[in-house]
Amino acid sequence: MARHRSPGGQDSSPALDKALDGAVVRVRGAHRIPVPSSALRGKVVVAAVAAGAFAAAAAGQTLTSDSDAKPGSHADVTPLANSNDANAAIGVGGDTAALAQPQVLSAVDSTSDASAEVKKLTETTRVTAERQAREAEAARKAAEEAARPKFVAPAVGTFTSGFGARWGTSHLGIDIANSIGTPIVSVTDGTVIEAGPASGFGNWVRIQMDDGTVLVYGHMATYNVTEGQRVKAGDQIAEIGNEGQSTGPHVHVEVWLPGGEKINPQPWLAERGVTL
Ligand SMILES: [Zn+2]
Repeated sequence: MARHRSPGGQDSSPALDKALDGAVVRVRGAHRIPVPSSALRGKVVVAAVAAGAFAAAAAGQTLTSDSDAKPGSHADVTPLANSNDANAAIGVGGDTAALAQPQVLSAVDSTSDASAEVKKLTETTRVTAERQAREAEAARKAAEEAARPKFVAPAVGTFTSGFGARWGTSHLGIDIANSIGTPIVSVTDGTVIEAGPASGFGNWVRIQMDDGTVLVYGHMATYNVTEGQRVKAGDQIAEIGNEGQSTGPHVHVEVWLPGGEKINPQPWLAERGVTL
C-alpha cells in the first residue's frame, strides 16, 4: 500500500495511516458505487471544517498540489472525522480530488481481487475436474476388469483329441487344430514360468495361475512371452505350430493342479465357462 502523504509532502502519522487503511477497506466494500456516499462526503466536509480548512474543500475543489497524491489513491478521507490531528486533517481533507473518485481505486482493487478469485476458482474447478476424471477412469477400468472374461478358449480351431488313453498311451491334454500361425492365447490370468523348447512339445509355454494351477501349451511354432511375464486371459502368447511329436498343426493344452496332477482340461474349462 502506498504511503499516505500530506499535501506538504510529509509522511502522515502512523495513526492516520492506520485510519486510512480502514477507510480503504470501507471503500472497497462499496464496490463500483460511482460517487462516495453522502455520509462519506459529509465526513469529508466535517473534517475540512474541523481542520479550519476552506469552504472550497466542501465544494470539491482540490486544495493540494502534492504531486504524490494520485487521483483515486485511497479514500484519504473518512478517518478524518475521528482525527484530532489538524495537520493530518488538512492533509487528508485537502485531497478532495481523491475523494471525488475513490471508486477508481475501488474498481482497480476489486478487479485484482476478482481476478485472484477467478484464478482460485478456476484452479479449484480444474482440480475437481481432474479428480472426477481420475475417478471416472478408475470406475471404468474396474467395470472393464469385472466384465472381462477370466477364462477363454486357447485358440480358435477344431477340437481333435481329448484327454486320456490314445494310441496305447495316455494323452495328458487336449488338442485344438488350426493352421500354422493361428494365435494361441492364455486361457486365464497368470505368470509365465517357462517359455522355450521342451521334449515332445517342440516348444512349450507354461503359465501359472495365482492359485498354483499351471497351464501348459505345446507344439507352437513361435511364442511371444518370457519367463516372469504377467498375462491375462485372452492375451496372445504364441502361434500354432507343428513342432515336437505332432501329427499336424495344433495346440496341445494341459492343466496341472498345484500338486502336479495333470487333469482333463475339458471339464475344468467347462466349469469356468469355456466349452470346446
Ligand atoms: Zn495333444
